[in-house]
Amino acid sequence: MKRRYGIVAGLSAAILITGCGSSTVNEARNPTTPEEPVVAAPKNVIFFLGDGMGMTTLTAARTYAVGEDGDLTIDTLPETAFVKTYSNDAQVTDSAPSMSAYMTGVKMNNEVLSMSSDTLAIDPVADANGNKLGNNCGTKNGTPATTLLEMAKAKGLSAGVVTTTRITHATPAATYSHICHRDLENDIAAAMVPGGTGYNAALGTTGIDVVLGGGTQFFTPFAKGGKRSDNRDLIAEMKAKNYAVASNATEFNAIDGTKTDRLFGLFTSSHMSYDLDRDPSKEPSLADMTTKAMDVLAKNSKGYFLMVEGGRIDHALHETTAKKALQDTLAFDNAIKAAIAKAKVSDPTLKNTLIVVTADHDHTLVLNGYAKRTGKTTPTNPGVLGVVKNYVTGAVEKDLDGAPYSIIGFGNGENRTQSSRSVLAALDETTTAANTYHQEAVIRVAAGSETHGGTDVFLGAIGKGSETFLGTIDNTKVFTLVKNASGL
Ligand SMILES: [Zn+2]
Repeated sequence: MKRRYGIVAGLSAAILITGCGSSTVNEARNPTTPEEPVVAAPKNVIFFLGDGMGMTTLTAARTYAVGEDGDLTIDTLPETAFVKTYSNDAQVTDSAPSMSAYMTGVKMNNEVLSMSSDTLAIDPVADANGNKLGNNCGTKNGTPATTLLEMAKAKGLSAGVVTTTRITHATPAATYSHICHRDLENDIAAAMVPGGTGYNAALGTTGIDVVLGGGTQFFTPFAKGGKRSDNRDLIAEMKAKNYAVASNATEFNAIDGTKTDRLFGLFTSSHMSYDLDRDPSKEPSLADMTTKAMDVLAKNSKGYFLMVEGGRIDHALHETTAKKALQDTLAFDNAIKAAIAKAKVSDPTLKNTLIVVTADHDHTLVLNGYAKRTGKTTPTNPGVLGVVKNYVTGAVEKDLDGAPYSIIGFGNGENRTQSSRSVLAALDETTTAANTYHQEAVIRVAAGSETHGGTDVFLGAIGKGSETFLGTIDNTKVFTLVKNASGL
């Protein structure tokens, strides 16, 4: 369909050119028409990554937010593909090699960040303070793989990284650092401080222009309550490099992005809060961080590369607290909506802006049973967070133990009944729709240790070159498509 549409559009364009030929020639020959200076339009790329946002989580989030028949912004993206996410050594990837594949086009081992395929992930060793943050990668363990963000900087574009996790966590780290193990977050933090020891020189003399997220602990000396064993104060070093610095929502809101060249905002010691728990007077929303980043970056006439991560969808799924995961998916979707609207202000047809939305891997969340339609979740309607009810009679469905069961479940997780489910006969929707309810799992694992899933993930795209995203593609191919579409 897309191909045929393209031909039709091409034909109409040809006819239009023929029809207008004579007047075009006349205008060109008119000696009084001043020659327009040729100014290249800025080329912008926004790469949205929903960490752990698998297909079932997306469907559940849609039902949660707008009901079965509604549309999230993600649902409205005109071009779509499926993405294979396996890593170099594992059927099921972790965030590090999957995001690295998107950013570099290289397939690497689990836990490796933006390095060559032969790089071995070597666990950190204890540092001077006993924290497992000591670098044991070795000197001959692989070579850096260039990232899209580095390519953008090399071409004179601006670049930004926005996330709800620690800014040194695997997904954001894959855009700006190269290291054998994702847990080396002190080293990763140092990679973004222009001119300092451990700085990634591929980020140019000025470094990343916008940095927003959580994780001050890896920028703060151990003696001052942080995790740095080298006693450097990287926040002070960033200030000295002329970044406008924000540490809470008040300071963030006071910064006018259109008048700021470099912005550095870390709002929490570790990850930012789940959206359900977020205090807006202390932490900005992902949508607010995204649009302010665009304000700062848009001042570069060559354009920008911006990565935005909805990072805590993944953490909520690891905890098997579905409501938190769905609300964070909605916050991520709101950031996409805000970004498209803002981009269209200066580029109405997005002919110079490519926006890509995808996930790095799936989780084991499932939608169980032949549930009657629930509609969206409200204070009085648990919606998809409720129990399975018969779609004809509306009666609560029971399993073979005679117990009700929730619509959302997990392949593995911390909540598995150790006896017959008949003891759960009292399971009700006040329980299952609670913010902190851990949905039941088939396989029992340690608390917080629900695993990723290996299923392909969704990719949606809109704007410049987005029509090249189609079919079932490898995560490394996404790099090539973004690079080609944006001219990086
Ligand atoms: Zn992930």
